[in-house]
Amino acid sequence: MSATAKAPPTAIGILGAAGRMGQMIAREILGRSSEARLSACVDHAKSWALGKDIGDILGLGPCGIKVTADKDAAFANSEVLIDFTSPEAAKDHAALAIKHHRALVIGTTGLSAADKAAIEAAAGEVPVLQSANMSLGVNVLLTLVERVAATLGVDYDIEIFEAHHRHKADAPSGTALILADAAAKGRGISRDKAMLPPRHGQTGARPPGGIGMSVFRGGDVVGDHTVTFAGIGERLELSHRASDRALFAKGAVKAALWLAGKPPKLYGMKDVLGL
Ligand code: NAD
Repeated sequence: MSATAKAPPTAIGILGAAGRMGQMIAREILGRSSEARLSACVDHAKSWALGKDIGDILGLGPCGIKVTADKDAAFANSEVLIDFTSPEAAKDHAALAIKHHRALVIGTTGLSAADKAAIEAAAGEVPVLQSANMSLGVNVLLTLVERVAATLGVDYDIEIFEAHHRHKADAPSGTALILADAAAKGRGISRDKAMLPPRHGQTGARPPGGIGMSVFRGGDVVGDHTVTFAGIGERLELSHRASDRALFAKGAVKAALWLAGKPPKLYGMKDVLGL
């Protein structure tokens, strides 16, 4: 290719294409045709969307890519796959990324230790980017939370509040958990040691040094997160509110374009954003 020739668009396949996020990601890829090409749309074998053209599902008219359950073909035809499915599926997709030697972006949350181990195993052989939140704002917030936790110390109680729509399947959100990781890191401890149990009934006084978490589910809330540092006489609150999940779709496609051709490793959104 000459120095002036433009690179061909990156072939990106979507895993969970019929879901809320999958549809947003398909729309984003179709709208970025100079850089990205939609190469496959996969969903569950029992999905209502199987056999339908994703362009028709989005109300854009047919684009020639039908939703399929054929994962091997989707991996074979794509350079990068983006997964927004379920934890069990994400684990299987990590194994398929190894089998087909393809880059994989994972946005699915609620991952267990076993799911994370499968993802780390894949990252030993292919480039994998996993992030519970693909937005620029939340990734900046993570850096701020770590710094504030380190500065204020244990005299300030840390409480994390998160709110999401009524359909969300996991709690606390993956974002709330990585915010807790950042706060714990700022204090030089592990999240497992710092997390306080859910509150109900006779809880007694709040132990010092712990990180509390509370969860709201309802309506169509896209995603709110607030980390409060509560001291004696003052409270410092750091908040992020997502108002459109297209934000996460843009981040996921940006991550996929960035990941194509990278060496095998487990990357995060901070790598993409240069934070
Ligand atoms: P959703 O339920 O609307 O969509 C999930 C889709 O995955 C569905 O179409 C479902 O049929 C499909 N699916 C499930 N199991 C599958 C399998 N085995 N094989 C193929 N497809 C399968 O959910 P959503 O709101 O789109 O969210 C999906 C995931 O993304 C959740 O874990 C959510 O928390 C997470 N999420 C992450 C971010 C981020 O920035 N990282 C942002 C929003 C949502």
